[in-house]
Amino acid sequence: MEAPSTGNKPKSEKTSYQRLLIAALKKEMEIARKLDPEKLASEIRKIGFSCQHCGKCCRQAFGDNRVAVIPSEVERIQEYTGLSKLEIAGPFVIEDPIQDGIGKSEEECPETSLIESEENEEYFSPDLLESLEDCIDCEGKVHAFGWILRRKRNGDCTFLERDTYKCQIYPVRPMLCSTYPFYIEGLRLQTCECEGLGSPISIEDSRKLAEDILFRYISELEDTLGLYENFVDFIRGEKGLELAKKSQENGTFTCIVHDSKGSTEISG
Ligand code: SF4
Repeated sequence: MEAPSTGNKPKSEKTSYQRLLIAALKKEMEIARKLDPEKLASEIRKIGFSCQHCGKCCRQAFGDNRVAVIPSEVERIQEYTGLSKLEIAGPFVIEDPIQDGIGKSEEECPETSLIESEENEEYFSPDLLESLEDCIDCEGKVHAFGWILRRKRNGDCTFLERDTYKCQIYPVRPMLCSTYPFYIEGLRLQTCECEGLGSPISIEDSRKLAEDILFRYISELEDTLGLYENFVDFIRGEKGLELAKKSQENGTFTCIVHDSKGSTEISG
């Protein structure tokens, strides 16, 4: 069940650390807007890239395959698929909740799709809850920051077609997917593991990719800034973890997802 969150009694003032983070983000955005797409395109050509359509980045072939999505991306996928926000995305937490199914086939993980089962695949085990203790409030609600695309129990992206490895939402796929394996961090171009790296890329394709990478970088910075500016800290308490574990056991578990548009409470 999804509802806008009122949360527990908030602390409204920003801490000096939060103000520092906001100032640093604004500075990074200012510099990011001045990055030269032509220089970026030339770097991409030096590295080389051509997608081999192996689908490894959509599975867990290279480890953590979580796809962080911002609210506008979820909305685009909603329009395209007619699915609800929670069918498309789940809470983003530091630790990866899907561990058991890694490397297994769909047959070995029978209940595969959130869309089919309406079950939350990103299960918060007691161990995971312990590692998230600092994100649990005094009422035992877990606070998450941002969203990730839903995955099947074996860790595959929920939109990956089973036999063909085709993306079912290709025209509206998230920016992370359309710019994979590239991203910018610390104002520098970085790459993830990928079968297609090192292959020649045309000038035209490298320019288009450079523009998309820059657009993604700035969009994500803007979104993070929105999150920091909207976020009102929650109250932690000694019993928070215990309450969260109990609510997980009795099926009343609640997670509050904070994003640039506000907060969403997910329960049940
Ligand atoms: S982006 Fe890389 S890992 Fe993903 S499908 Fe293409 S070649 Fe494979």
